[in-house]
Parts: sequence; structure tokens; C-alpha cells
Amino acid sequence: MIIKNAKIITCSMPDEIIENGSIYIKGDRIEKICKDTFPNEILDKEEVIDAHGQLLMPGAICAHTHFYGAYSRGMGIPGEPAADFPEILEKLWWRLDKALDHEAVYTSALVCMLDAIKHGTTTLIDHHASPNAIEGSLDDIAQAALESGLRISTCYEVSDRDGKEKALAGIHENARFIKKYQAGDYPERIFPTFGLHASLTLDDDTLEACAAAIPEGFGFHIHVAEHQVDEFDSLARCGKRVIERLDDFGILNPASIIVHAVHIDAKEMMLIKEKEAWVSHQPRSNMNNAVGLPQVESMLHLGIPVCLGNDGFSNSMWDEWKAAYLAHKLWHKDPRRMGADKIAEMAWYNNAALVKKLSGSQVGTIQEGAKADVMLVDYQPFTPFQAGNLPWHVVFGFQNSMITTTIVDGKILMKDRKILTLDEEEISHQALQLAPRIWERYNQQF
Ligand SMILES: [Zn+2]
Repeated sequence: MIIKNAKIITCSMPDEIIENGSIYIKGDRIEKICKDTFPNEILDKEEVIDAHGQLLMPGAICAHTHFYGAYSRGMGIPGEPAADFPEILEKLWWRLDKALDHEAVYTSALVCMLDAIKHGTTTLIDHHASPNAIEGSLDDIAQAALESGLRISTCYEVSDRDGKEKALAGIHENARFIKKYQAGDYPERIFPTFGLHASLTLDDDTLEACAAAIPEGFGFHIHVAEHQVDEFDSLARCGKRVIERLDDFGILNPASIIVHAVHIDAKEMMLIKEKEAWVSHQPRSNMNNAVGLPQVESMLHLGIPVCLGNDGFSNSMWDEWKAAYLAHKLWHKDPRRMGADKIAEMAWYNNAALVKKLSGSQVGTIQEGAKADVMLVDYQPFTPFQAGNLPWHVVFGFQNSMITTTIVDGKILMKDRKILTLDEEEISHQALQLAPRIWERYNQQF
């Protein structure tokens, strides 16, 4: 397949804009990039998409999400409103996840993937919980990924909050899914991490069991210090802060994702850096849960690869860019904070490097040999549009409605805003049939 007449944004380092270029996609990869148009003998043989001057850029990557959160949309929480994050966990998430069965897990993944395709988000790293349907739940999500065509990572969040039996079942589900992945049961675009909820719901013996169960080369995916209570809990347990406690059990490694890290201190940052672990930042979630903001710029300055996720919010990563851009300025009362270039560092370069580390796949860049994960964007700039100011165009100019085409592994998932791999109407109908049942099971727990 050839895509011609495109303004190509390479998102390579350094970023480059090719004014009127073409790419040749062969199989799942970008075979060749041409600074004008390919000769007719090639064009005649291939399927040709004329971009008509649209931007061609890498599909977006989300470093942390929860597909199962889909059913919370518009859902009321009975009783007094949650007053802080621990109450949000207790009243919302730890009851909603218990209302999920396998059908609900599969359907929630599908609706999120539909949303992701529409928003040009081509890779998502999911973190899953369904305490009443643990075994096989990661296959439900993988099945949705097989059908949607997206690049997906998933894991099961091990926790002691529902007792040892469920914690062990969670460990088993992670280990089982990793084994299937190792056996090559899934295509390369479906890859695992080993999920853990958070230090405050994990006992020492469970952390030990997780460290024993994870195969060499795989990473943990865990929420850390999203609220101060995680630090208080860890200090009360062992006199150490969360990152130190986790490190004692071997949870930090070069493939581990530390989610949020809002309340970690300088020593914890140094330890993350030393262990070469990754941090993922979700500003919309931080604002919604009113937990504060992590010291993202300090961590980047220290050389910690901070990535950008959405924590189950809409799958538009540009919305997350915009939130990051605004939130840190307001939080610090300083308009110099969090330049758009810092967000590009997270959302483009670090997210791409994370996926490379976890799956071996080179995505998030338009370069020869990289995976053909691409979106087309109908953006007509009315000010100079250069590699240097591109991140500010994303923040102030890019709109979700401009995304017209999404491609993963060289396969077209959406063309001219029409989704080709999934039946949108059917999935929405299915989800809408299921939701009242899930809400009922949720409400019964109060
Ligand atoms: Zn999360």
C-alpha cells in the first residue's frame, strides 16, 4: 500500500516534517519513505491512498488505561459523594469491577478500542480488574484486540483487597497470559505486563509470590503513591516509603511501569532511575481524583522516562496532552511550566520507547522498518508549521475531529472516518444492553 501526497511528521529524533511525501507500506512495516512520489511502476502495482495534503503521523500511544472503566460513564454513586481518593476506590472502582463478568470485560474492551481507533490511538497498555471473573479475563481483552486490530498490552491487577484466594487467582492469570504470549499464541501486537494494584492493597507474602511468578524479562505494572495514603500505609507497614518497599521485593525492573507517582519523594525518584523503571503520568485522572500532580519535569530532568497514559479517560491522547499542558501551569501558578515539548517527550518518544521495551515493536515513529501504525489528520495550519513548534500546534490546533484514517500493522482500521474492523452500531447496541445489568450488580453492593 502507498500513501501519497502527505505532509509527513516523522516523530523521529530529531523530528522532521516532509512537506509532500509518500510512504510505502509492505506487510506490517513501513518499507520506504519518499520525499515526493514513488515512480509509476510501483504506484500501478499497489493500493494507493491519496492523503490530499493531510498530515501523516504515527498513531498515538497510551501508556496506562483501564478498559473496564468504560461502564462508569454516566453512572451515579449512591450515598454521600466520595470525599477523597480512597473513598473513590471504595465506592466506585472496587464495586464496579466486582460487577463485571466475562461478557462485560470483552464488551468494555471493544467499546474502548472503538474509541481509540476513532482517536488515532493505535497502542494501549491496559490494566485490568474483574474479581468475579479473573481466569481468562485477559483472553477476553486479547480477543477484542484481535478483532479491533489494535496493538494492546494487558495485565491483571493482583490485590489482597478481596482475600488471598483472589490474589492468587490474579497471580495465576498474569502468569497464564504471559505463558500464552511466550508460546506465540497471540500476534506480536498483543503483549503482557504483570499487573499489581498498589502497595496499600498488597501484603508482603503476595509481593513475594508475584516476584516469584514473573518470568525473566517481564515488567510489573503498578499504581504508586497516587494518593498520600499509599505512602502512609507503606511507612506504617515497614518504615519505608512505597518505592523502597516495592524495590525490596524486586518489583522495579527495566520493564516495570510505575503509574502516577504523585507523592513520591526525591529518594524514591533516584531509586526509580537507578532501577531503570518507567513512570506513567495521567493528568486528567489526577485532576478528577483531586490527588495533586507528580513532579514530572523533575523526573524528566533526572532522566526517568515519564510516559503519558489516560487512566481510562477518553482514548484521545491529544486531550491528555492538553490537560498536561494546562494542569501543571495552574498547579505551579507558573506559565513557564510544562512546555508542549516536554509533553511530546512523554507522549511520543518515551511512550514509543516503552512499547519497544515491552514488545520489541518499533512504533510511534514514521521511519523505514518501523511498524506501519499510522494516522491521517486533516489539519490546515494558518501559522508556520515546523518541527520546532509542532508540539504547540498539537496543544492549540489539533482536534479529534480532524483524524480521518487509522492504520495498525499496515491494516486499515478506519478510513475516511469509517471504522472497518468493528461494527460500531452493533457494539454500541450490545454494550447498551449490558450496562443496566452491570449498574444493577454495582448498586446491589451498597
Ligand atoms: Zn490506573
